[in-house]
Amino acid sequence: MNPGWNGQFSCFDLVAKSSAHSRTAVYVRDIPIGGDDFVVMAGPCAVESERQLLQTAEAVAEAGARILRGGAYKPRSSPYSFQGLGVDGLRLLRKAREQTGLAIVTEVMSEDDVDLIAQYADLMQVGTRSMENYSLLEALGQCGRPVLLKRGMTATLEELLRSAQIVAEAGNPEIILCERGIRTFETATRNTLDISAVPVLKTVSHLPVIVDPSHAAGVRCLVPTLARAAAVVGSDGLLVEVHPSPDEALSDGSQSLTCGEFRRMMDDLQPYLDLQYESRRMGPQLVAAGGD
Ligand code: PEP
Ligand code: MN
Repeated sequence: MNPGWNGQFSCFDLVAKSSAHSRTAVYVRDIPIGGDDFVVMAGPCAVESERQLLQTAEAVAEAGARILRGGAYKPRSSPYSFQGLGVDGLRLLRKAREQTGLAIVTEVMSEDDVDLIAQYADLMQVGTRSMENYSLLEALGQCGRPVLLKRGMTATLEELLRSAQIVAEAGNPEIILCERGIRTFETATRNTLDISAVPVLKTVSHLPVIVDPSHAAGVRCLVPTLARAAAVVGSDGLLVEVHPSPDEALSDGSQSLTCGEFRRMMDDLQPYLDLQYESRRMGPQLVAAGGD
């Protein structure tokens, strides 16, 4: 165990674990994340059309997802890629919520969009490229919605918790952390899923932690396997990309599951969730070291 854990993280007092504050459930509408349920958020990388979104929403709801993901404002690596439908995409997300009852998570890239997106989203996603956008983090302190904070692709866990502390200090303690893969020398996968981030974060912070296996993998065949790993190590849920016809997707098709693949992934997760419940029952096996 790293003897520096306590000293490293305890300065982020609003998000670090303490004897008074060991575990927090964050509510997305009436859905607790970080409680006993494993909550799956799923949907397309980007909202492309009414038909694409509603078809995906119905399929993921039927398979057991409780939150619909879909980007209306897309941060893309290339300026020539699809940038999202903007407010039209937000309207489609609202329609999908009305039709399926799913809550909505969608990304906010700029502090100028916070108020608008908060009118449509139940959970405000901060993407990997924005984790250190402090003006955005501060604006989210007053948005009245919980925040899904993704780890920057080159950020340490300390930097992730520092960003969480900024949102909390700005007035919003409702934060869910997301491990989505980090950049390493490995090129066989799009990113490297830092699976140990989950038990470390669960040990040093009271915030819920979920895993995004899609952006970690970059290829769809790995997504169910990484999802199982996330379940076993104690993740509170998943964020998964699903598209009715991934080969035609305008973004991240290669890592998106078809609706059928998503259903199978959900069906196959149960024994791994049982393992997670078993290890939670046995109590924490990691203990943060004493202060340094
Ligand atoms: C996304 O969720 O589609 C996304 C852009 O994720 P990330 O910020 O992790 O790359
Ligand atoms: Mn994506």
